[in-house]
Amino acid sequence: MAKLSIDLKEGKLKKESDVIIGIDLGTTNSLVAFIKDGDPLAVKDEKGKSSLMPSIVHFQEDNKVIVGEIAKQKLVTDPGNTIYSVKRLMGKAFNDLSGHEDYFGYTIIDDDTESLVKIRVRDSFFSPIELSAEILKGLKARVEQVLDETVTKAVITVPAYFNDTQRQATRDAGKLAGLDVLRIVNEPTAASLAYGIGRKEEEDKTIAVYDLGGGTFDISILSIHDGIFEVLSTNGDTYLGGDDFDRKLIDYWLEQTGLKRSELIEQKDLSQAIRLLAEDAKKQLSFEEHFSGSINGHEVSITRTKFEELIKPLVDTTIDRCKSAMQDAGLTVDKVDHVVMVGGSTRVPLVKETVSAFFGQQVYDKLDPDEVVALGAAIQADILAGNNKDILLLDVTPLSLGIETVGGLMDVIIPRNSKIPVRVGRQYTTSIDGQKNLKVAVYQGERDLVEHNRKLGEFILRGIPPLAAGLPKIEIHFLLDADGILRVKAKELRSGVEQEVEIRSQYGISEEEMAKMLLESIKNAEGDVAIRALLEARNEANNIILSADRFLEQNHAILSEEEISKTIGLAGILREKVNGTDKDAINVAMQNLNDFTNPLAHRAMDKAIASAMKGKKIE
Ligand code: ADP
Ligand code: MG
Repeated sequence: MAKLSIDLKEGKLKKESDVIIGIDLGTTNSLVAFIKDGDPLAVKDEKGKSSLMPSIVHFQEDNKVIVGEIAKQKLVTDPGNTIYSVKRLMGKAFNDLSGHEDYFGYTIIDDDTESLVKIRVRDSFFSPIELSAEILKGLKARVEQVLDETVTKAVITVPAYFNDTQRQATRDAGKLAGLDVLRIVNEPTAASLAYGIGRKEEEDKTIAVYDLGGGTFDISILSIHDGIFEVLSTNGDTYLGGDDFDRKLIDYWLEQTGLKRSELIEQKDLSQAIRLLAEDAKKQLSFEEHFSGSINGHEVSITRTKFEELIKPLVDTTIDRCKSAMQDAGLTVDKVDHVVMVGGSTRVPLVKETVSAFFGQQVYDKLDPDEVVALGAAIQADILAGNNKDILLLDVTPLSLGIETVGGLMDVIIPRNSKIPVRVGRQYTTSIDGQKNLKVAVYQGERDLVEHNRKLGEFILRGIPPLAAGLPKIEIHFLLDADGILRVKAKELRSGVEQEVEIRSQYGISEEEMAKMLLESIKNAEGDVAIRALLEARNEANNIILSADRFLEQNHAILSEEEISKTIGLAGILREKVNGTDKDAINVAMQNLNDFTNPLAHRAMDKAIASAMKGKKIE
């Protein structure tokens, strides 16, 4: 029986497709692909021009969201409301960005905490997950247009070095876009699959995947054994890519024309024009020996030889990273069976030649380097759909496993579709001063609130040393063995107290029940994520109120009456907002309090250091 669903946008009843789509969610560009008549196909835009969709989200005056090519055009005219490179922010705290704050042309909230970043657009706050979901929605719409069916299932790729938080964030973005993310696949694995590497069970191979995109470079060394891809090492540079080639070219042309950098800064359209022309020239030089054009009546030109001279240091840097990756993998280049080229910038002949020379072999470059990751994702999706019977599928856990954290939130420790056996550890802490016991409640399911998931069991870790909230370090380990039996261990690291229980996770849950839980999670994704955002904002706000109270208590001596009363006032507003349900209002109040107290905190810190110094003799 064919499933039907309602297309909310068009208000039509649409057939729900069996197709599982493959998505390359890139820093610069994103793509969607699926298997058509046995072969992977990357879906092109409405005009049938390009399969790339710029990973850019723009917020219009009326707060309507647009993505892709039309959003890209707003980069110059309205940079503050146009978000690019959101992938760089996935699963990151502000502190993780240190040194690169200037890279972003929009407002990222610095709340001086370890919590995940938020982006401010006018008076709204967005998480990178919400923004990535917009890009995914754009891709979903693109493929639904072609199929004339709704799609609900996807495989999404991520860099091999993405950690748990970043992978989970990517999953959440999919969920928010109305997609059930069946699996998160490493980009280099997908690229290898696209070339048919690793698709035969008996194959035993070592692969290097060289991925040079717009703003990032990744090298991954993979080993394939019995159809299992293992990442031996990764290396790269998260701020090196084709955009740097463009910048070299712009510098060269500034010299050639006598134009000044200050003129570019003042004249936005001139700066945009020269950037676009530089990218065109670069692309043309991948196929031709010479380029010439003009900018504001100035003639500009460049030969391929000159261009290669300009970018050689950058290309050499990537080779240094390849060397490190080989070293970390404990291998010499002669052990590499194939080298796979990924990313638009590998079209540059100098890049191909240099990489071939380093690995001492011809590189794999027959497929479109922009599309190869998405094509591989589509192949992986097809394998999951069961259409590719000759490939062995690994055992995976069908539902996510996690524990309850403050506010009744589900914190996933082992995501669904993880290969088993698997062992994952994560650190937690207490939320109340002097807390001696910690309840560890284990749940299974895909919803954001534990009350909607299935409880598998709970136990109490007793004997935590009574310390201020946030100080104890409690490590929780999930070990899911090959039979689907889960063992959970909690240990307080300072005192060494620990507790372990065994939970039979996979049994007692029927196929139908599982399907129902998955369906519910998709249906409720939007609401769940909104509630999660609200609860997270509340948790964070409560922490900040607590610190503000403590701060006033400890530092009233160095604060003026006015500063004290203003702090109390701002904290009061935040307290009031915490009781409401508007997460943006909570965020605004939180930021106002932070902005006001940050300089005071710095002053207190300076005072403390000064008085500590006073007591010491400096020889
Ligand atoms: P990402 O993985 O970061 O999303 P892509 O793989 O889409 O990035 O690569 C985008 C980069 O590839 C851009 O810098 C673009 O200018 C560059 N590029 C695309 N085509 C060519 C070409 N023919 N020659 C050189 N560079 C190219
Ligand atoms: Mg890429």
